[in-house]
Order: sequence, then structure tokens, then C-alpha cells
Amino acid sequence: MDCIFCKIVHKEIPLENIAYEDDDVVVFKDHKPSAPVHYLSVPKEHIQSIMHLEENHKAIISKIIFAAKKVAKDLELKGYKLVFNVGREGGQVIDHLHLHLLGGWTKQEEIDHLPN
Ligand code: 5GP
Ligand code: ZN
Repeated sequence: MDCIFCKIVHKEIPLENIAYEDDDVVVFKDHKPSAPVHYLSVPKEHIQSIMHLEENHKAIISKIIFAAKKVAKDLELKGYKLVFNVGREGGQVIDHLHLHLLGGWTKQEEIDHLPN
């Protein structure tokens, strides 16, 4: 399957900036950050999107959230957003499930105007 995130998590493409990895999950830096801190928490298993989740995926969804939480703690973020884009109409471009970890804003002006 020609999936860029499968290639990344299985190390077929060299990847710097891995913040966390275990048997099931990799958290790596987004290459075009849309926040001062922007990581992607990605299951090694190929799941297309939240729309494609099945009952047996409950554990892996929990794992990608906990992995993002750990990275946020390691980076000493005091607050952050965790975002799933779901489907093209939801802004999803890469068809391999990923959780965006966004944060690092420091100016109150920016924080006041963050999108939901
Ligand atoms: P989506 O819009 O699908 O939720 O987000 C995909 C994200 O993956 C985007 O923020 C994009 O910058 C990031 N991305 C796409 N391709 C690569 C890549 O090859 N390496 C990294 N590190 N990030 C990528
Ligand atoms: Zn994939």
C-alpha cells in the first residue's frame, strides 16, 4: 500500500524528530507545523480515519492519546490541542489516522483567538 505514514512509522523513510515510540505508536514532528509545537501521534497499524474505526481499535485510540499526552508533558506544555481531522470535508489530507498535538502558544493575544 502506498501510504506515506506507513512508510514513516515502519522506517522505510528516514525520520528525525521522533518524540516517542513504542510497539504500537510513533509520535513525530509535523513537517509543516501549524503551531509553534506540532506533533503527530500515529498508530503503526494502518487505519484510514476515525470514520474507519472498528470496535477492536479502542485500545490503539487510547494509546495514541496517551502517547500525545506524554510528549506534551515531556515538552512541558501547559496547555495544548489534540485534533483529529476526519475525511476530506474535515480537512484530512493523509489517509492514515493521526492525532495532531498542537501547542506552544505564548502570547495571550494568540491564545485568545485559537480556533475551537
Ligand atoms: P491532515 O490534514 O491529514 O490531518 O494532516 C496531515 C499532516 O501531516 C499535515 O499537518 C502535514 O503537514 C503532515 N505531513 C504530511 N506529510 C508529512 C511527512 O512526510 N512528514 C511529516 N513529518 N509530516 C507530514
Ligand atoms: Zn498507512
